[in-house]
Amino acid sequence: PATLYIVATPIGNLEDITLRALRILKEVDLIAAEDTRHSRKLLTHFGISRPLTSYFDHNQALKGEYILEQLRDGKSVALITDAGTPCISDPGYQLVRDAAAEGVAVVPIPGACAAVTALSASGLPTDFFTFAGFLPNKQGKRRERLQALAAEKAVLIFYESPKRLQATLADMLETMGDREVVVARELTKLHEEFMRGPLSRLAAEVAEREEIRGEVAILVSPAPEVESVEGPQMEELLKRYLESGE
Ligand code: SAM
Repeated sequence: PATLYIVATPIGNLEDITLRALRILKEVDLIAAEDTRHSRKLLTHFGISRPLTSYFDHNQALKGEYILEQLRDGKSVALITDAGTPCISDPGYQLVRDAAAEGVAVVPIPGACAAVTALSASGLPTDFFTFAGFLPNKQGKRRERLQALAAEKAVLIFYESPKRLQATLADMLETMGDREVVVARELTKLHEEFMRGPLSRLAAEVAEREEIRGEVAILVSPAPEVESVEGPQMEELLKRYLESGE
């Protein structure tokens, strides 16, 4: 029956694919991939040869319609992206939405996701976190976004390009103060690394390194508890104090 499978693939280490993902990828009528050349390598590695089509940010409207037609014909389709879980800072959301609206079954096949992988070994509190994806590239917009997130009482998880890591850590220090951060680099790969410490130290460390390579996720600890009272709360306290006549 018509089913759209949202299939997680590895974020580096090829062993991080589930048995269920492999079975579904072998069984579906069509695999829609973000980058067919990239995914063909993965599929070949696992001896999977199903028809492939591309589905990426800039052909979404056109390809989404084609994929929906296949589903309307009763075909099963698996959506995969270059790494990790589709729709998480990756294409897929619109297709899932459209398929669900047409009554097509959408079945997630869970697996690796860099955000959760990084969080699980970060040593930061895990009970409450905000996934904030990629920050804007331009510094002004980036700082605005960081400012807007600065008061969140949750661990903030960002994806970032290694090229912008240094600038982003510096902006974080400026907008959010010297919080504890974890930079998770090359997760599940040969050069996996966790850098942990206050923003000021990590920003300096990264600036000293020749070059940061590979993929990185940045986790920032929650805003510190504020002890002072301000604004309406302060007015209320003052009013009560004056009324009490003490
Ligand atoms: N859909 C993916 C997922 O489930 O995590 C994320 C795709 S997004 C386009 C790619 C970004 O995820 C990278 O720029 C990096 O910030 C993060 N990422 C992906 N793989 C990673 C890895 N092995 N180690 C650290 N960060 C990774």
